[in-house]
Amino acid sequence: MKYKKSQELYNKGLVNLVGAVNSPVRAFASVGGNPLFIKKAKGSKITDVDNNSYVDLVLSYGPMILGHRHKKVQKAITKALKNGYSFGASTKNEIKLAKIVCDAFPGMDKVRFVNSGTEAVLSGIRLARAYTGKDKIIKFAGCYHGHQDALLVAAGSGLATLSLPGSKGVPEGAVKNTLIANYNDLESVKAHFEAHDDIAGVILEPVAGNMGVVTPQNNFLKELKEYLESKGALLIVDEVMTGFRSKFGGAQELFEVEADITCLGKVIGGGFPVGAYGARNEIMGMVAPLGGMYQAGTLSGNPIAMAGGIATLTELKKQNPYDKFNEIAQIIEVFLLESAKKYDVAITVNRFGSMINPFFTDITVTNFKEAQTSDTKKFATFFWEMIKNGVFLPPSQFEAWFLSSSLTEKNIQKVAKAIDKAMEAVSKM
Ligand SMILES: *Cc1c(COP(=O)(O)O)cnc(C)c1O
Repeated sequence: MKYKKSQELYNKGLVNLVGAVNSPVRAFASVGGNPLFIKKAKGSKITDVDNNSYVDLVLSYGPMILGHRHKKVQKAITKALKNGYSFGASTKNEIKLAKIVCDAFPGMDKVRFVNSGTEAVLSGIRLARAYTGKDKIIKFAGCYHGHQDALLVAAGSGLATLSLPGSKGVPEGAVKNTLIANYNDLESVKAHFEAHDDIAGVILEPVAGNMGVVTPQNNFLKELKEYLESKGALLIVDEVMTGFRSKFGGAQELFEVEADITCLGKVIGGGFPVGAYGARNEIMGMVAPLGGMYQAGTLSGNPIAMAGGIATLTELKKQNPYDKFNEIAQIIEVFLLESAKKYDVAITVNRFGSMINPFFTDITVTNFKEAQTSDTKKFATFFWEMIKNGVFLPPSQFEAWFLSSSLTEKNIQKVAKAIDKAMEAVSKM
């Protein structure tokens, strides 16, 4: 059987791990069937424990933008390992990565490294509250900002996939200062400001990737920023997914919008646990030891993770693959649309830079409600047919597919063939 070892490991894993996974999406709950267990990966390819090889369009949900085990990254972390793994004191490489990051984001004078995107955002929110002295935060339905209590409402992919409105275990008090607005709808933000005078700021994904890919329409980001300035509220841009992925300076650079606070993760660590939040001096001056906002971490700025981040970002800047990403995404879009037409399947394709995905719906998708019109059963069939034909996709309708700079012409042909087969399978449902 093709997935025998994965199935065996899954059954073993169920004993001492929750659902045999350490993050829910990995359980394949929304596409059915048993999850794959991975043995190794190199470049554009990932290999499971049964030795099936796939073109990897998951890329660890974004971080592996250079592909797996890029030789420069491998070399840097191997070197760092020789000097020790964690010191509880500062190292030169933290300063080096901080400079790379601050240079890439014009609105960022200082940055603080943490260990995950979740931590970056929860700290960024605390900072916005500390700086403004106000408590309320507006988030958009369908945007995901990690699993902190306050933002675990209307939070996109993981929760949409499991059809949970929020999460159990989150007390009402934890979300009472969270207001929900509709993506691409400035009026829904204004309505909150008319009803409340204690709003610290608005957090959003500048290009949403956790309800599937949804792009900001008609100057949405610029108008939002202008409006917030007029209200003395902060714009918190969660670039955990888009930072260094849509452009070296993130989506802010492309849309010419400067965040007050920027949150980073994923690509910044190149596969190691790194998150970061940053802002101009005036705001970062609130953070301990300079100011009265406490935030700390035993492993923050970990030397191996810093080495991985520096090597990844340095190589990424050198490669500058962003035009190539656009071209490849466009090619994949055409494959999707043409095969959907050939087999008479209704789809909408959204893409932005190196993020793309089809929605199995016949309407355009500009917010969470529209994304949810997708036929997730069709996606499940599509997903498994892609797997059978050697393409590893995120196992959810509401996750973006990611491109790496190590994709080859041959890989893209393989993706095209798989799409044709998968679309045919969907048409026979
Ligand atoms: C992945 C993600 C997070 C959470 O990051 P983790 O490292 O998984 O904690 C937060 N915000 C966005 C936009 C993300 O895509």
